[in-house]
Amino acid sequence: MLKFVLLLWAYWVLLSCWSQRNLTSDAKNVTDVLCSPLMEGRGYVNGGCNKAGIYLLREFERIGLAPLNGYAKQSFYINVNRFPGACKIKIHGHKKAPGIDYLIHPSSASFHGKLSLIGLSAAEVLSLPFNSASSKHAIAFIQPKQISRDTLRMVRAKLEKLARMNVPVVEYTRDKLTWSVSSEQFKAPYIHVFDTSERVLTNPMKIKLEAEFVENYEVSNILGVVASKQPSDSFIIVSAHYDHLGRMGKNTYFPGANDNASGVAMLLSLAKEIQQQPLQNHHVLFIAFAGEEIGLEGSQFFVDQHILGSDQISCVLNLDIMGSGEEGITVVNGAVHKALFQRLLDLNELTQSVPVIKPRGKAANSDHYPFSEAGIPAIFIYTMGPNKNYHDIHDKAAALSFDRFDQLHYLLLRFIQSF
Ligand SMILES: [Zn+2]
Repeated sequence: MLKFVLLLWAYWVLLSCWSQRNLTSDAKNVTDVLCSPLMEGRGYVNGGCNKAGIYLLREFERIGLAPLNGYAKQSFYINVNRFPGACKIKIHGHKKAPGIDYLIHPSSASFHGKLSLIGLSAAEVLSLPFNSASSKHAIAFIQPKQISRDTLRMVRAKLEKLARMNVPVVEYTRDKLTWSVSSEQFKAPYIHVFDTSERVLTNPMKIKLEAEFVENYEVSNILGVVASKQPSDSFIIVSAHYDHLGRMGKNTYFPGANDNASGVAMLLSLAKEIQQQPLQNHHVLFIAFAGEEIGLEGSQFFVDQHILGSDQISCVLNLDIMGSGEEGITVVNGAVHKALFQRLLDLNELTQSVPVIKPRGKAANSDHYPFSEAGIPAIFIYTMGPNKNYHDIHDKAAALSFDRFDQLHYLLLRFIQSF
């Protein structure tokens, strides 16, 4: 008997090791594919986001997810400012490194030539009349060592207004370079230069920058359902956005590994499991959203279309930034939906999956938001850890630890199964 128990135990250990290894290695594979140069940073140059969408359509189909009311994807249109060509700057005759020394403001206009810079302090920028500057010269704001975040925010808002009115802007910043994507194009160029040295302005700055504003660019949410065992009208939604920021010029792209290839990897791993063991009384709808980075456009579109009535959606579990976990997870809306948060705490108490689960209040920082604004219970989970790469060129697949991926997978699976 003892022999049999030992054998059974050894078999169980082997099986769980094997399945855990598979979970993480599958997640790494998914992340590698989504972050490869072929996907172009899942943005709007060379159809990057749509290539990722086609890959996910196939993955959903391979897992066996069913279309929602006959639709495996839901297309919508966005306006986007993109950078398909040159994005080069030279200071003092030296070529600067894109993504490391500088970023182009996502709303920047094209520019080709030399710009002479006029250095202005924060107070000078704030008091500058809009009609006083010429489009031949750039306003150069140098961030001082000591400046309050509020003043800096006001200065940046003013600089954006100036660029919108055809005044070129160069901002020398001490802050980490963090990129985004915009549905607007200014009339003038706006360049962020990272520099923590005691700066002296060097004139002129040489710029070759191609920006292109595209209207009505088609992108798609990818949809897949696992039907409940019993007839039901209720849905649990599990979502993760698959778009990222794309390219800044021919040679630079933003891989978006943690944000959010990792969340898509978690969504696929959960979809595989739920497909094997559907819920008794709830359908589970998996959605890979597009258009998140440009302003939660995919999730807003889904909510606005009312394909499902809000009373049909029992809970939304949104996953974004799933690549670490050393320091636990945060639950946005955890402080709002206290019963859902407690359910996660209880499950974690039982399974010891993650070291900490922190609640957070309402925040418009991912695709749960349009749902919660429509009165639908929605939470957003992200992992915390030493990896601070975010919206930069360093957010690469190889930088992800996936430290608690397996444990978190099982915690989320149990959470979904608790409905
Ligand atoms: Zn994200």
